[in-house]
Amino acid sequence: MTTASPSTATAEQLLRRRQAELRATLQEAAGTALHAADEPAAPSDFKEVADDEAQDTVSDATTAHALRELAEVDAALLRIREGSYGVCAECGDAIAPARLQAVPAAALCTACQGESERRAAHAS
Ligand SMILES: [Zn+2]
Repeated sequence: MTTASPSTATAEQLLRRRQAELRATLQEAAGTALHAADEPAAPSDFKEVADDEAQDTVSDATTAHALRELAEVDAALLRIREGSYGVCAECGDAIAPARLQAVPAAALCTACQGESERRAAHAS
C-alpha cells in the first residue's frame, strides 16, 4: 500500500462511480434488448452475459462502447488494488497525473497510447 496517494483514492472514487453508471447502462440495454435475467448477476457473470450481448447486438454502438469502457474501468480498479495504478502497462513509466485526471482508466502513458493508436490505425 506504499503507492496509494490522495490522487489514487480520488481516481478510485471516480472509477467506481463510472463503473456503476456503465453497469446500469448495460443492464438497461440488456433489459430492453431481450428481457435478460431478472436476477442481478454477480459482476463476473454479468460481464459474460454482457459480452454475449455485444456479439448479438454489434450495431448497438452505445452498448459496445460501454462494454469497452467498463473493461478499462475494471482493469484500472484492479491495478489500484494491485498497487500498479498510474504506471504505464507498456513501458513501466509513471503516467502523468494530468492524464490520469482526464482519463482515470488510462492504462498507457501518453507516448505509448499514441504509439498504440498509430499501430491500430495501421492495422485497419
Ligand atoms: Zn508508456
